[in-house]
Amino acid sequence: MRLIMIAPPGAGKGTQAKRLSDRYDHPHVETGDIIRTAIKNETTAGQKAKKYVDKGKLVPDEVVVELIEERIERPDCRQGFILDGFPRTLPQAEALDEMMQKHDLSLDAVLHLDVSNEEVTERLLARGRDDDTPEAIEQRLEEYRN
Ligand code: ADP
Repeated sequence: MRLIMIAPPGAGKGTQAKRLSDRYDHPHVETGDIIRTAIKNETTAGQKAKKYVDKGKLVPDEVVVELIEERIERPDCRQGFILDGFPRTLPQAEALDEMMQKHDLSLDAVLHLDVSNEEVTERLLARGRDDDTPEAIEQRLEEYRN
């Protein structure tokens, strides 16, 4: 089964993706985590990504697409995967379409967790990470809607 998870920040997307990954025994392909690992290992993609992540900006599409393609082409993804955090832009969605076509695969579902702004704001404020101020939260929700 090939699934994409889409949800605003704070909706619990990672938690639900992990549960689905356990239930169906498919890898949980967590984009933010893949990027952080590339940075830690100082790979070419990681070196390109670092300055964007440090500023809280989106990493350029071609860098993310390359990392995701490499990940979902590995043998453990052959039976399926749960994509979390990708695609996040229109060019990424188009690149994913191309990848699927190239391997003659199709997606089974896109799960959209629809949580109200009030609810996610409350959840993020309760989490209390450094970038979870009301202003930053509003900015991230705005970016998500775009
Ligand atoms: P958050 O959802 O709080 O942004 P993530 O762990 O999903 O946290 O992502 C951390 C960082 O990794 C983002 O700030 C961004 O720089 C980068 N990133 C993650 N996913 C993508 C993506 N699909 N496209 C571009 N950059 C991404």
